[in-house]
Amino acid sequence: MSEEYGYKAVHRVFSSKPNEPKPHSYDDSAKPDTKLAKQIDEYAKNELPKGIYNHSMRVYFFGLAIMADQFPDWKLTKEIFFVTSLLHDLGATEKNMKATKMSFEFWGGLVTREELLKLGAPQEFADSVFESIARHQDLGEKGNLSLLSHLLQLSTILDNVGLHSELVHEDTIDAVNKAYPRGDWLNQFACHVGRECDQKPWSFTTTLGKKDFQDKIMGNKLMAPYETAKM
Ligand code: ZN
Repeated sequence: MSEEYGYKAVHRVFSSKPNEPKPHSYDDSAKPDTKLAKQIDEYAKNELPKGIYNHSMRVYFFGLAIMADQFPDWKLTKEIFFVTSLLHDLGATEKNMKATKMSFEFWGGLVTREELLKLGAPQEFADSVFESIARHQDLGEKGNLSLLSHLLQLSTILDNVGLHSELVHEDTIDAVNKAYPRGDWLNQFACHVGRECDQKPWSFTTTLGKKDFQDKIMGNKLMAPYETAKM
């Protein structure tokens, strides 16, 4: 197992000409049908507030669409992308924000890695998930990412900031937002960025610039029409 778990280096900037995206409609049946995926889904439902859970599911489905249309040759498994997507913001829950002074992505990655090992996932699998969660906001221009980290970055930035819309068909964006409603996710996430930077002024999120990043989130025109009141 290597590429299946994401262990293949890709340049961190998507620079090739995108393929024409196709419309995909996804529902719960597109979740991987494995024991580990079901256990992690249960874990996520217990640990994550609805807003983070729905964001994480949108990230999973947007990533699946990006992989199908833009990277059809990748051998990355749906299972590892599902687990990583679902728990990539685990460190942002109230419980986990109180549990550490560490940057939320690192803590969330560590707790996820422990949970995966406890459930019997191979260490290579759990390590790859940790790497991608820890680096999911490591946006930059130099160097490489694993396949898994690259896909997670593309789909989280699409949901939060509206970038990379050329990679996903507008009908897919519509279907996924309807299947996993946003509530006031952009506002919730901008608040999280503020809390993280205020409570942990050394945190990784500060590299994105607190106000700069919050402005980009609140200026997400692609997803704004789907935002509704607090859920
Ligand atoms: Zn996220």
